[in-house]
Amino acid sequence: ATLSVAAILAEGAKRHGELPAITLGGASTSYRDLWDQTRAYAGALREAGVMDGDRVAILIPNVTDFARVYYAVLSLGAVAVPIHALLKRHEIEYVLTDAEAKLMVCAAPLLVEGAAGAVAAGANVLTVLSPEAGEFARLEDLAGAAAPIDTYLPRGPLDIATILYTSGTTGKPKGALGTHFALVEQVNVLLLNTFDMRRGDKIFGGLPLFHTFGQTVALNTGLRAGAEILLLPKFTGEAALSMLLDQGVNIFIGVPTMYVGLLAAAKARPEPAPSLRYAVSGGAALPLAILDGFREHFGATIHEGYGLTETSPVASFNHVGTEPRPGTVGQAIWGVEIEVARPEVHDAIELLGAGELGELVVRGHNLFSGYLNRPEATAEAMVDGWFRTGDLGTKDSEGYITIVDRKKDMILRNGYNVYPREVEEVLIAHPEITNVAVFGVPDETHGQEIVAAVTLVAGSLLDANAIVDYAQERLAAYKYPRLVEIVVEFPLGPSGKILKRELVSRYTED
Ligand code: ATP
Repeated sequence: ATLSVAAILAEGAKRHGELPAITLGGASTSYRDLWDQTRAYAGALREAGVMDGDRVAILIPNVTDFARVYYAVLSLGAVAVPIHALLKRHEIEYVLTDAEAKLMVCAAPLLVEGAAGAVAAGANVLTVLSPEAGEFARLEDLAGAAAPIDTYLPRGPLDIATILYTSGTTGKPKGALGTHFALVEQVNVLLLNTFDMRRGDKIFGGLPLFHTFGQTVALNTGLRAGAEILLLPKFTGEAALSMLLDQGVNIFIGVPTMYVGLLAAAKARPEPAPSLRYAVSGGAALPLAILDGFREHFGATIHEGYGLTETSPVASFNHVGTEPRPGTVGQAIWGVEIEVARPEVHDAIELLGAGELGELVVRGHNLFSGYLNRPEATAEAMVDGWFRTGDLGTKDSEGYITIVDRKKDMILRNGYNVYPREVEEVLIAHPEITNVAVFGVPDETHGQEIVAAVTLVAGSLLDANAIVDYAQERLAAYKYPRLVEIVVEFPLGPSGKILKRELVSRYTED
């Protein structure tokens, strides 16, 4: 048996030895060096007491050490628990306690919050990237002293590889258990049947690696292909643009807010990006205006997909090589089924027909194996072998999926259902609106009121009333936002998505 997520790098070292695997700030690490350094880190972690099945938290930004530590943990047969880099000490403590992490590897810049959280949770701390030894041992020093491991420990298909904490946008985080089989199979299916990713490709690595999207779609799939991942520790539109224009990135992978930033930066630097082959979007709805703007500016297509942490993450995709159907998230990927179920029936799955609106449910090799320590949440989400996504959508007769909205984000105003996404599409088409989030807030008269938060192009004199009027002209009376808030920037979640929960809380917490 050779099953392990760590095999991605071990095999890569054999096949692509001298090719660059990861590049950060102009410095490249080859596949062979990355694997050798990973084996050295694994030797050090073993010395530090990490054993098969132990959970090891990883709090490292998008730098090469993330990959070294991640694959080192997996090589030992231990479980990687990547932590969102923005978490505060109490949130870190919560996650480490819930995951019963034995150890945390923490990068120096995140040590203040990280170490406090880990110590409170009773986990040992090793540092990376800390110039000084300080109070905790440095993984680099231990690696210099310990013998490297020879190779990775093979795992069984249902053995857990990762625990990824999810639902920052909707509630208290739950640890989704990712199996070695689901994660490896996802990568294989993406490469064989979904993307077009080749040896030597240059992949944009600005999605956070602690999140499922960056970890699976950029890191694991990229390395499995023999590609080079160009890491970007802190996303800005300008930095991302420079990777396209100056560093030859040919596959861009991002969430919609990244495309907004990229297009804004491109206005100031209107040059073509001849190396770009295609782009991939997921994680949140991609507004049509962005899709069109991207094609117009860069002459390349964004292929939109859909998925969740619980589906490893990709469930559907506008497959590369086919003409994307704008407004849809494509068809189920190879070996995965997506159906639409009656949302109000909870203890069973009652499937609906083509075109009918309901809750999307997913079945296939890409499913997680449950939420850690939460049998009830697991039982609610997994019904008759199907995973209930909590997203509302439709499927047409050709299998193309359209996401209408999250069940939880639907607004009920005066008894009418309003789907924020539809309102967002209208507002973002306004030439002076750069990004938008629509959400419901409690209201005594109407039950809920519709609010839109928007960011504007620099120098715009647009005011809130004019935006309300604009929306009112284009949307039915029950749908247009009564309140518009102009914001300088949006609160963003760990993966770069707009945190609607935080926007809503401004209206409920006084
Ligand atoms: P967190 O990011 O904090 O973990 P989350 O609830 O956003 O919380 P994820 O697993 O990151 O969890 O994201 C899954 C959700 O993202 C889906 O349930 C869906 O609502 C949304 N999503 C993903 N892709 C798309 C898409 N292409 N269009 C619309 N929504 C999408």
